[in-house]
Amino acid sequence: MQISVKTSARTQMIDITSQVQTCVKESGIKNGLVHVFSMHTTAAVTINENADPAVEADILNTINKMVPWDDHFKHMEGNSAAHIKVSLFGPSEIIPLENGSLVLGTWQGIYFCEFDGPRNRQVNIKIISD
Ligand code: ZN
Repeated sequence: MQISVKTSARTQMIDITSQVQTCVKESGIKNGLVHVFSMHTTAAVTINENADPAVEADILNTINKMVPWDDHFKHMEGNSAAHIKVSLFGPSEIIPLENGSLVLGTWQGIYFCEFDGPRNRQVNIKIISD
């Protein structure tokens, strides 16, 4: 299964938890593991707090300071910062599935992380039954 994500900024975190849960419902699988995979070299997937939007802002501010957009990179496309951020975050997450629900903590959400937007993106969802 695939989720489409339309991003609207160069750097952005988008909560895709409800879309992943919809894929789980459509699959009919109740127990197993859910693999959420970004099919891109400049966009990642991570799990973090989805209660206070300030957390997203702080993560993005910090990662943008850690990896500045211009730093005399060699990659001709000019988006090495995005490639580096994806390797720091990773392209995927695995979430346990129990009784038809994602096993996430109270404050956890699944985020699609855009690092070279705005673009139309695809996230692959693979559900492995117990
Ligand atoms: Zn590139």
